[in-house]
Amino acid sequence: MVPGFRDCAQSITMSNIEQLREEVWKANLGIYRAGLVTMHSGNASGIDRDRGIVLIKPSGMDYDRMRPQDMVLTDLEGHKLKGEWNPSVDLPDHLYIYRHCPQIGGVIHTHSNYATSFALLAKPLPVYLTAIADEFGEEIPCLPYVDNRADHIGKAIVKYMGKKAPAVLLAHHGVFAFGATPRAALKAAVMVEDVAKTCHLALLLGKPRPLLPREVKKWWDRYHTTYGQPGKGDLR
Ligand SMILES: [Zn+2]
Repeated sequence: MVPGFRDCAQSITMSNIEQLREEVWKANLGIYRAGLVTMHSGNASGIDRDRGIVLIKPSGMDYDRMRPQDMVLTDLEGHKLKGEWNPSVDLPDHLYIYRHCPQIGGVIHTHSNYATSFALLAKPLPVYLTAIADEFGEEIPCLPYVDNRADHIGKAIVKYMGKKAPAVLLAHHGVFAFGATPRAALKAAVMVEDVAKTCHLALLLGKPRPLLPREVKKWWDRYHTTYGQPGKGDLR
């Protein structure tokens, strides 16, 4: 039995906060280099569960100027512990997700174009592709529109997130992706945009059909049991 995303008890353990700072900075650079964000939109964060410390991108800072020391440290209630800058305005949503999903160690928000084109039409992304079955294991849900006050978006994400898929679409807005670490969240953010692009292009040509549920399960099971290098984690 392959554990679903909600069942995965994995959490990050960092030997020190500086490693997490580096990883959160790299996740922020990663979404910029992958073309998922422009100027200073979007953000990535990570949590040290042992210490209850969250690191997140500073508000309004361009990615190409950002340094590891610019990441802002807060506690799980959003009190700033360290850092020169104000945290991302989306911090309350990240914190709500961390407080309610102990299996999540990294969160990313983008307005990446192809995935957001589905969100703009309030459409989920069905399992059209084997890559969606592999990575997401189910339809990528699209949440109803919610405003950006307080932690409304975080609450909606926790309410509507799937059992396996490490990403959701937000109607009229964009994407949230998550994972056991900031790097895993980065992979989910990159993959959701990649599969959304292929699906968007296919929908211009015709009417694709989703894979059958038994095929989706087959691909998900294989990807999560035999893919990669056993015992070596994610190769870098
Ligand atoms: Zn946004």
